[in-house]
Amino acid sequence: MSDLTELYQEIILDHNKYPRNYGCLDNYTDKGEGHNPLCGDEVTVYWKLGPEDIKALSFQARGCAISQASASMMTQILKGKSVEEAQELFQLLRRHLTQECEDEEFPEELGELAALAGVRKYPARIKCATLAWHAMCDKISD
Ligand code: ZN
Repeated sequence: MSDLTELYQEIILDHNKYPRNYGCLDNYTDKGEGHNPLCGDEVTVYWKLGPEDIKALSFQARGCAISQASASMMTQILKGKSVEEAQELFQLLRRHLTQECEDEEFPEELGELAALAGVRKYPARIKCATLAWHAMCDKISD
């Protein structure tokens, strides 16, 4: 196992063990739910949208480490982003998790999400890695 693979696994395990922004959000403006029947993952994402950006996010989830870690990292990276920026990050993440950019390195703006690169080898897990993102971004797209 390479050092990078080990580092990625540590990041995922850490977010799984100590999820960031976990729980329901006070005064959230909207929420989205996701369910991945293939793996049994369930996630609810809460967010508070201000006039210009996403003020706060939180999530509650049950399921595998990948889905929980991805949700946890998402609530960190999308805070302070505009809806448009959030959509762009999701598209970027999706492209880098699927075959499209298989051999490319994760761009810097995805930060810790690079730790999800391991799912490229397991297409069934891509749904785990994008579940929370769909739950939120499919809903705030309009
Ligand atoms: Zn899963």
